[in-house]
Amino acid sequence: MIPIFKQFAERVTSLRQNEFSRATWNLTAYYIGGVFLLLTISSVIILLLVPPDISRLSEHLLQNEGGATSTHQEFSVYELNEHLFEVLIIVNTSILIIFMMSAYFFARKTLSPIEEMQKKQTQFMGDTAHELRTPLTVLKSGSESILRQSHTPDEYILFIRESLEEIERMNKLTDELLFLLQQEHSSISKTFIETNISTLLTHEIEKFIPYAHERHVTVSHTIEQNMLAQIIPDDCIRLFKNLLKNAVDYNVPNGTITVTAHSSNNHIVCTVADTGIGIASSEIKHIFDRFYKVNTARTHTKHGGTGLGLAIVYEIVKNHSGSITVESTLGSGSAFVIHIPLHQ
Ligand code: ADP
Repeated sequence: MIPIFKQFAERVTSLRQNEFSRATWNLTAYYIGGVFLLLTISSVIILLLVPPDISRLSEHLLQNEGGATSTHQEFSVYELNEHLFEVLIIVNTSILIIFMMSAYFFARKTLSPIEEMQKKQTQFMGDTAHELRTPLTVLKSGSESILRQSHTPDEYILFIRESLEEIERMNKLTDELLFLLQQEHSSISKTFIETNISTLLTHEIEKFIPYAHERHVTVSHTIEQNMLAQIIPDDCIRLFKNLLKNAVDYNVPNGTITVTAHSSNNHIVCTVADTGIGIASSEIKHIFDRFYKVNTARTHTKHGGTGLGLAIVYEIVKNHSGSITVESTLGSGSAFVIHIPLHQ
């Protein structure tokens, strides 16, 4: 993240932290107030209900024994009532003190998932703004410099071409953001359709071969025939496209991509392996994070990707109740393995 966005995100985070700290204390006070009220009500009920019972019990005992005086009886009842009152005060005060000590902890526990979500949202907003700012800056500075002096028709064409590339980049970013947003809101339900995944995958690989050849990368595939699965076809196409594109973009000249797919234990197991630059083991745990990019300097793509491709892959696999794993060796290549159940 560039400094200005980092500063902004840190400032927003610190403001939110203050708000959360205030909210935690408020919630602690509400919790303590609530427990105090409950203890008071229960004590009043006990004090209203129990003394008449004590009197009745005492009367009953005296009638059976037939000996003690009425002063003695009143004294015993009075003593018992007082003892009950003292016990209630001690028990309630102890409960209240213990609860006061733990209430802050409960309040923090209640609010921490919301705080975590807010932090992620702030980070996400900062990253999105940063990603949009880069093409906008290129467009602005390019337009300003082209207006400053006259140019040849070829220079204008070049400028328009570069501007279109930046616009395309913003288009891709907004499209990916909208897709991720859609995935998060499960209420926008999508239809699972029984699909011949072997045909779908073969078709996608064949469409991809010219893109790979342009970058001197060879693609080979071994797909088990007629594998039928309940899937969301458009989402699975997107998933394979993202994996195949990465396998090309992060490959080396004269590299290869091998795609295999077979059914096993009621699952489709699909592997997209490449002989590309590979991913360091310390980076692997982050690559499915939104906007995470390892090293764009070594890729074929001019500006690198958006860092959302694998986050989308992860969401699609999750929506299909599947799983995805990565095996990679820096400098040798990577293999992404997907397991998707045949029946949802
Ligand atoms: P991007 O749009 O940058 O490609 P992705 O989410 O698809 O974003 O990938 C995240 C990062 O993971 C990439 O920046 C890249 O560094 C790394 N990566 C993804 N696929 C591969 C691969 N097949 N080989 C090496 N690195 C990869």
